[in-house]
Amino acid sequence: MAQVIDATWRVMPRVQFLGTGNAFSPHGRMHALVLIDGKILVDAPPTLLPQLRRTGVSSDEIEHLLFTHWHADHMFGFPFLILERKVVSNTENPLNVYLRPGGKEILSNLSHVGFPGSLNEVLKEDINWLEKESGEIENSDWSYERFQVVHTPETDPHGYMLTHKSGFKLLHCGDSGPCKEIDNRATEANAILIEMGVPDFVDSPNHHNPRQVNSLAERQPHATILVTHNYSNAVKQKGGFPTPKLNERVIQLEDGDELVIEENGGHFHVRK
Ligand SMILES: [Zn+2]
Ligand SMILES: [Zn+2]
Repeated sequence: MAQVIDATWRVMPRVQFLGTGNAFSPHGRMHALVLIDGKILVDAPPTLLPQLRRTGVSSDEIEHLLFTHWHADHMFGFPFLILERKVVSNTENPLNVYLRPGGKEILSNLSHVGFPGSLNEVLKEDINWLEKESGEIENSDWSYERFQVVHTPETDPHGYMLTHKSGFKLLHCGDSGPCKEIDNRATEANAILIEMGVPDFVDSPNHHNPRQVNSLAERQPHATILVTHNYSNAVKQKGGFPTPKLNERVIQLEDGDELVIEENGGHFHVRK
């Protein structure tokens, strides 16, 4: 059962969707990217900096960065972020990076390839590398629990159950095909953020297609399903794929949408 949200909670938490596209950036969509309460990012796509700028958020406001897996559309923005923080924003605030063992080496190598010699000090001194599977997100109202999902195994794919102090639970499924780990946690989630990276004619165990998203909605009737990492165009264009029709409890997100959890009654809604 979905947890009841504490109605006395006063601060309005906000989950912004700065990008809702897959690796191919369909018309009208940047790569999938989530920003929570203006300071917690999930993943770092190649266009992370322009995505932050058009939201009016400065890179030095970012305190936490949680990684789901090691695909380019989820991590290639990392060297740009830490270079910008060092050279332009000039911040001394450390960046907390939540990742799996082995991730530090991947991101360090990527940074050395991207900006050779420029980031050695930043990587060593300005980043807190945090490998714990669960815990509080410091100086925020959220906690996290990481869990394994089903995606290209070489990318060490994971999702996050993100729990707000009010009790609200967002299940961020990372990039994943249907799997038990998602279904087990979905029963407790208020909102499920799911990727829909491929159309129905693609049968990939590593992604959801529209049919599988509908089936998730039927299996989890209590939860609101939010679709991101979408393969379809957000705007009418020649080329690409049109938006599919889905179960009415499924919201296909677009860039700039946000999830707002209201102060009273614990209701939440998506603001388009
Ligand atoms: Zn992806
Ligand atoms: Zn992926």
